[in-house]
Amino acid sequence: MTRTVEWDRLAETALDGRSITPEEARAVLTAPDDELLSLLAASARVRRAHWGVTVKLNFLLNVKSGLCPEDCHYCSQSALSTADIARYPILPVPGILAAAERAVKAKAARFCMVASGRGPTERELDRLVEGVRAVRAAHPDLEVCACLGLLRDGQAERLREAGVHAYNHNLNTSERFYQEICSTHTFQDRVATIRHAKAAGLSPCSGALFGMGETDEDVVALAFALRALGADSIPINFLVPIAGTPLADRPALGPRECLKILCLFRLLNPAAEIRIAGGREVQLRWLQPFGLLVANSIFVGDYLTTKGQLPEADFAMIRDLGFTILGHEAAESECAAELWMAGGLGGGAGSLTKRQSA
Ligand code: SF4
Repeated sequence: MTRTVEWDRLAETALDGRSITPEEARAVLTAPDDELLSLLAASARVRRAHWGVTVKLNFLLNVKSGLCPEDCHYCSQSALSTADIARYPILPVPGILAAAERAVKAKAARFCMVASGRGPTERELDRLVEGVRAVRAAHPDLEVCACLGLLRDGQAERLREAGVHAYNHNLNTSERFYQEICSTHTFQDRVATIRHAKAAGLSPCSGALFGMGETDEDVVALAFALRALGADSIPINFLVPIAGTPLADRPALGPRECLKILCLFRLLNPAAEIRIAGGREVQLRWLQPFGLLVANSIFVGDYLTTKGQLPEADFAMIRDLGFTILGHEAAESECAAELWMAGGLGGGAGSLTKRQSA
């Protein structure tokens, strides 16, 4: 049996709703480069069965920046970081509404409100709830996702009542490796928050961050942990080392390794929204379009504290692949690209914000 057939068999397993084994997961991660196209083709079959040719666009708003007491080593907003970033408390409602307007113009289906910190205070939640209600009233078709850290009793329910659709809290890495990248909260704290959000009726969004020094075993363990958690959407971040953070000197993973990780997550989570998140441009580089053969979702615009490519480049990539933006006709994405080039989306890439990982 050739390896090409083997990858097809994994795709059949995923399409049948069964789980590949940990050994098969390790084989995906260590696939020889000369089999990468076959692996991508098999994974793309699974993507196409569940998501067709659509690409979901998501827009990030860093609704509170910096000032975080936690020590996540990868994060430029942590207490350990000396990175030169913007620091501000929860934005007022008009600022939140203006960002939602930019999200709609950028063809985003989901508006992700991300706040730094261990978790929201009641006062912060009051303002966020007010902002969510205003966004939902102005843009009822725009999904709102909140990413606010660890939640206390009743907070997820308040967000749900305000109209929040999803809650994001990334597991980021395996339980074994977690203590090496953060000491102020645990892997299990994060698992509990996602379970709490899910129990409150919020769509669970939880993902990963790769390139921090984890082993293949950590990648496999995390992939199975996210499958067990039943995350509806899984953002896959690739580390962008930031000067002033403890992981500033981590070497890049390389684009082919990133693609194998995306294939693993697609094969293990066939129906999930797999989102290529932070580090897409830096780590996948010229292989970004191959990533979209497997993943079905990206952020449009910038990340939390790092830049993304121009939205018109994303629109062009989607169009060239023969894909469409979820919720929009292909022709509309061309119009949006032209609008962006004419300065119609709010004054350039710097006015759009998106995240790396929180
Ligand atoms: S990832 Fe979130 S909790 Fe961790 S340091 Fe950054 S803002 Fe704080």
